[in-house]
Amino acid sequence: MEEIVKKEGVLGLESPEQERMNLYSSLDWKDYKSQLRNRVRSQDLHKYFHLTESEKLGIQDTIRLNVGATPYYLSLSDPNDENCPIRKIIVPRQEEAFFSPEEAMDPLHEEDLSPVKGLTHMYPDRVLLFSNHECSVYCRHCMRGRKVSDSSERMESEDLERCFEYIRDHSEISDVVISGGDPLNLSDAKLDWILENLERIPHIKICRLGTRNPVTLPMRITDELCKIIESHNTDRLSIFCNTQFNHEKECTTEAKEAILKLLKAGVSIGNQSVILKGINDDGESMLRLHRKLLEMRIRAYYMYDPELIPGSRGFRTPLAKGIQIIEYMRGKIAGMGIPQFVNDLPGGGGKITLSPNWYLGFHRDSRNHVFRSAVRGTYHLSPEPVGSEYDDFYPSLDLETWEKIRENLYSVTRGLRLEEEGF
Ligand code: SF4
Repeated sequence: MEEIVKKEGVLGLESPEQERMNLYSSLDWKDYKSQLRNRVRSQDLHKYFHLTESEKLGIQDTIRLNVGATPYYLSLSDPNDENCPIRKIIVPRQEEAFFSPEEAMDPLHEEDLSPVKGLTHMYPDRVLLFSNHECSVYCRHCMRGRKVSDSSERMESEDLERCFEYIRDHSEISDVVISGGDPLNLSDAKLDWILENLERIPHIKICRLGTRNPVTLPMRITDELCKIIESHNTDRLSIFCNTQFNHEKECTTEAKEAILKLLKAGVSIGNQSVILKGINDDGESMLRLHRKLLEMRIRAYYMYDPELIPGSRGFRTPLAKGIQIIEYMRGKIAGMGIPQFVNDLPGGGGKITLSPNWYLGFHRDSRNHVFRSAVRGTYHLSPEPVGSEYDDFYPSLDLETWEKIRENLYSVTRGLRLEEEGF
């Protein structure tokens, strides 16, 4: 028996659990470079998971970004449960191999809005700087899969110089989002150089680092890195960090340590989650995630509707889900834990926010606004100020709705007695 086990080991047939133990013990766990050197690739996935047929097809035929996962992030996944949320972020599935007619390589038209390589200028005062094509984990839902993980998209120093030049020449720009790829996958020296260049441009006041490293490789947030960030977080430049936790399983002790280090460097941190089918597309999952995030001192920022990128059918959810999630969360967690539900409009229309319909309309006869309570489900009146000239600004509450909710109306002074109020 012992011989068979040994033989199976030689043939690479050890169990995923054993293979994982072998991997974890072969590296310096706390060293981020060792984690990156030992990233799990496409051809390794069968060692660390009992793969389903769908996953095998996904791995074989995926039409977008490469596979890559740090051993740390792999350790959060389940080798046996195909429904594990982390596993779905790491391992391609069959749906990813299918380019649906409604999908596009660049649904947000970022390339059309790019005056120089690596820079998108959509909003007047802000630009998106694509700093590099690498990430610690290649998330299967990544909306920049057309560039990320592709070495031909590498940003050389000259490319970045051209971006700085463009920013320098456009004094209306005050805010630079550095994303990619993941800017924290750059070397300390390169990041230092980028921040220094931005800090030197007098009209740049804000820099936002878009990074998933606190989630996928928290050991990357080293003291040295924090010192560099802190040295540029000055009177001239304010540095923010937007990260992307999507599931409570990602909220580990290591992740919290990384976040606390960034906070100590004076960096304000917000979370941009993505609603992902079968991962977090229900109110309770999102609520649990955002409760954990607040415990980690991360404020909720956005919750994105997934983009129409190639192979995204496996992740996309009906728009209604996002609205329902926000409706579910309201009243169960502090407001700073509730993200804005955002749709980045296809075709480069920019972001818009969507929310449940708390505002029912304006009752013109009584000059009252009518709201639905998120907590109690009751209806509440709030009068427009006397003398206001904005009555025409508001959508009218139709008579049918008014009659329907009359019984359940509350005003500022009491449960409304409509007859007494003369309506
Ligand atoms: S870390 Fe961000 S940019 Fe990189 S693959 Fe994941 S979602 Fe895409």
